[in-house]
Amino acid sequence: MMKNCLRYFFAFAPLLLTCFTSFSQTSGYSGTGANIDVKYHRAEWNIAPDATKNISGRVTTYFVTTAANVNKITFDLDAAHAFSATYHGSSITTSRTGNVITLTLPGSLALGTLDSVVITYSGAPPAFSNYGEGFEEKSIAGMGYVAYTLAESYGDDDWWPCKADMQDKIDSMDFIITTPSTFRAATNGVLITDVVAGGNRIMTYKHRYPIASYLVSVGVASYNVFDRGTVNISGTAVPIEYYIYSGHGSNPSAQLTAMDFCKQELVVFSNLFGDYPFKKEKYGMYEFGWGGGMEHQTFSAMGFSTMSSWSVIAHELAHQWWGDKVTFASWNHLWLAEGFAKYSEVLAAEFVTGLGQNPVTHRTNIQTTALATSTNPIYLANAEINNSNNIWTTVNDDALYQRGAMVVSMLRKLAGDTKFFQACKNY
Ligand SMILES: [Zn+2]
Repeated sequence: MMKNCLRYFFAFAPLLLTCFTSFSQTSGYSGTGANIDVKYHRAEWNIAPDATKNISGRVTTYFVTTAANVNKITFDLDAAHAFSATYHGSSITTSRTGNVITLTLPGSLALGTLDSVVITYSGAPPAFSNYGEGFEEKSIAGMGYVAYTLAESYGDDDWWPCKADMQDKIDSMDFIITTPSTFRAATNGVLITDVVAGGNRIMTYKHRYPIASYLVSVGVASYNVFDRGTVNISGTAVPIEYYIYSGHGSNPSAQLTAMDFCKQELVVFSNLFGDYPFKKEKYGMYEFGWGGGMEHQTFSAMGFSTMSSWSVIAHELAHQWWGDKVTFASWNHLWLAEGFAKYSEVLAAEFVTGLGQNPVTHRTNIQTTALATSTNPIYLANAEINNSNNIWTTVNDDALYQRGAMVVSMLRKLAGDTKFFQACKNY
């Protein structure tokens, strides 16, 4: 996929130096799928939120070979899962080393060959541990059992087989999610069908934009669905939709009122950054069992309390541009997502007057925290990105978010609004 960091450099040259650093992934990654370009996944998942945490599924991968004589293909899949694989309908030999699985093809594929494999798997994803998240099932008082995922940074292979990185985005995905009929599934893209039969509900979604593996998500719960109309982005009506746990009742008014500001922010950010990147599909927010927010592509996941936080709502929406469409090449450069999303909160306060927020106050608060924090660089060293717990430390958070936002603020000040926002559109 496009290495957007390079284009960013030309837009803002010579203000940024971090983009000169290597794009190679030297820490935290397994290096799977090095001989293929992933084109498409069809993900079929069976998820029943209950006392036994489990997922089973089948993932079909279409790929194009990027090397000659490809006869083995690797994917990331946590060792908790039993799995098997087929090629053109026939079983093939597989092996596993830790969380890396290898599929051996019956013959060799030439460079540039479009082909596919199917992986069937099931298991109990590993436990949530500090910032090592992934896939969770639990009971929440008043809400019943829920299931949800939080893959950033290395939790994607906890629950599905994938090529876990940002540089080979998946060009297109279909999702076929089977749950007990009393549940609904939330995931990326557009809902195509929703069928209840034989005690099950099967919800089918499609997503036709490139997506990084850490932004693939699913939430399963007893959801109420709130269809909030559409927002016109350059002539395209973008549907706005919220999924909220039904235990909160039919009118969680504080959340709905706060979340509806995303409609104005969609227009504001589209004017400042370029059109909402996924305008042919949707923007929405769905509840999950984690306390914060996560910018899953087209459908941000939010804890219920954060659904009434103006800044988190603006932050996760801004990530659809910064992080989701324009994605850092390696976790070293995570500030390119978090710094821009954090500064976008200031832009929401500045341009969406109905929020009643003072942008200068918000920026000053960010600045105060930035100045008070350690001298950790906003560029994360390899030793800091080898696992999720090392990435998401408070010290790093303050560097990535607060000082990252102040770097963006500085760029705007130095470039002036005309050049700065044109650069954002070019980025
Ligand atoms: Zn963020």
